[in-house]
Amino acid sequence: MMMIKFYVASKGDHKSNMIKSMVEKYLLDFDLEISQEAPELVISVGGDGTFLHTVHDYFHRLEETAFIGLHTGHLGFYADWLPEEIEKLVIAISRRQFEIKEYPLLSMSIHKEGETKPEKYLALNEATIKKIEGSLVLDVKINDMHFERFRGDGLCVSTPSGSTAYNKALGGAIVHPSLSTMQVTEMSSINNRIFRTIGSPLILPSHHVCQFVPVNRDQKFLLTIDHMTKSVENVVSLEYTVAKERIRFARFRPFPFWKRVRDSFISDEY
Ligand code: NAP
Repeated sequence: MMMIKFYVASKGDHKSNMIKSMVEKYLLDFDLEISQEAPELVISVGGDGTFLHTVHDYFHRLEETAFIGLHTGHLGFYADWLPEEIEKLVIAISRRQFEIKEYPLLSMSIHKEGETKPEKYLALNEATIKKIEGSLVLDVKINDMHFERFRGDGLCVSTPSGSTAYNKALGGAIVHPSLSTMQVTEMSSINNRIFRTIGSPLILPSHHVCQFVPVNRDQKFLLTIDHMTKSVENVVSLEYTVAKERIRFARFRPFPFWKRVRDSFISDEY
């Protein structure tokens, strides 16, 4: 059997660093090998925020790397292992007793004036667009059909696993990650006799394309892609689809998504 190469990423606080060292020591004792450049397994120690940072570092290796999240704060959606479970986790890793679960990602392309190649990004949670000053005004197109002219604070396009993050705060639906979809939610749209938006979150299938086309190309926008923020101008259009790439999680025990939702948002006392 091939030796497993692993890497442990930490949030950087004292507790997460201690747990990182402990996991590394145990896995090295089982003759596994540390490789930051080409790991087969990446263990992220911290919270869901840490997990997002870690995954972005390995977006170029999605086909070869599987992820595990260990939380040192509260229960996470990605970071769903407890520090008390480290020994069980390490034994399972060393015996390769895990299965791979894949979740969808979001693909975003920025088409700019005078540029032939779009800038491409992947998101695990969501991508948002806001205006730096004033309201955001743009046309929303679905599969090349004009859908609405949006005026308001911004728009969010989320993945199913990101539906419990920013999307939820915007009134979006929680979507099971086995569904290859993306969801568009509004941030405070202006609705009156002149401006009209649908007002409901939209869930689009994987073969659909959603485009945001600025009404005025001089506008400066603030884009977020998970934890990252980017200011852009000269935007011709932004294009969103469910990505061809998928993220792979190493799963060692069943932890159903709806149980994670209940334990995180309602109660874990049942
Ligand atoms: P942050 O502001 O430090 O943390 C945002 C919070 O979102 C943290 O509590 C984080 O959990 C949690 N979170 C991340 N992914 C989640 C998921 N898939 N489901 C449920 N909760 C999740 O920002 P950050 O650490 O850089 O993370 C960026 C993320 O913050 C964005 O992707 C966006 O989804 C989220 N965000 C949310 C709001 C909002 O809810 N109003 C506003 C802006 C951004 P941990 O504590 O476990 O890290």
